[in-house]
Amino acid sequence: MTATEATSEKKERWTASWKHLYSEVVTTGLCTGCAGCVVVCPHDVLGYDDTNGVYKPIELEADYGGPGDCSHGDKACTTCTRACPRFRMWEPEIDQFLFGRTRNPDELSGVFSDVVLARAADPILHEVGQDGGLVSALLVYALEHDIIDAALVSYLEGDGSTWKAIPGVARTRDEVIASAGSRYTYSANPRSSRACSPTSCSPAPPTRSCMKSARTAGSSPRCSSTRSSTTSSTPRW
Ligand code: SF4
Ligand code: SF4
Repeated sequence: MTATEATSEKKERWTASWKHLYSEVVTTGLCTGCAGCVVVCPHDVLGYDDTNGVYKPIELEADYGGPGDCSHGDKACTTCTRACPRFRMWEPEIDQFLFGRTRNPDELSGVFSDVVLARAADPILHEVGQDGGLVSALLVYALEHDIIDAALVSYLEGDGSTWKAIPGVARTRDEVIASAGSRYTYSANPRSSRACSPTSCSPAPPTRSCMKSARTAGSSPRCSSTRSSTTSSTPRW
């Protein structure tokens, strides 16, 4: 192989930053509101707007270049676009990493060796879970066998009647049971990865409402108002 061929085979340098994410995902309807970009941003540029059904990442301060730009991106920060599951084509790369090949056109669900129908054998998990409670059963198994320390899940606000999902952390079987069931709405579960404990946490990425109260109070946006004000014992961020 010639030096030129070797160079051309080298992976193209990744330079995409917030301005690309904003124009290609956030403003185009591709954004799922997962908050992955918000959680990984190393410079706390991004917050999360969960008011009035928005559920999208936002730039917190105009100082960084305006809502659709980020000066850290001009200095080669690309973290947010690397984390986004909707940014450009990431499936071939992850298929190659996991399976050593990219998926074929008829593999719409991705590369797999088998497909199974399963449900929880535990009657409680089967009862509280959605469609058989398999995910709840897997989480409980992983927790009880020290495979994971905790899982990022979603709970429901208040008594559940609003159907507003609240990201949270489950560390026990009871917490998995409390979070069981599907949410047919947004739930930015990665936000709860910054939670420290069910009752004391900081820093969760700030929300728009948190920023407003911080500005009013002249304090840091990393305020405790990012936490749900509910008095329920259900763990929340
Ligand atoms: S480019 Fe870097 S600093 Fe700017 S929003 Fe993305 S992750 Fe944050
Ligand atoms: S990482 Fe999630 S929240 Fe951020 S732009 Fe991508 S889909 Fe939207």
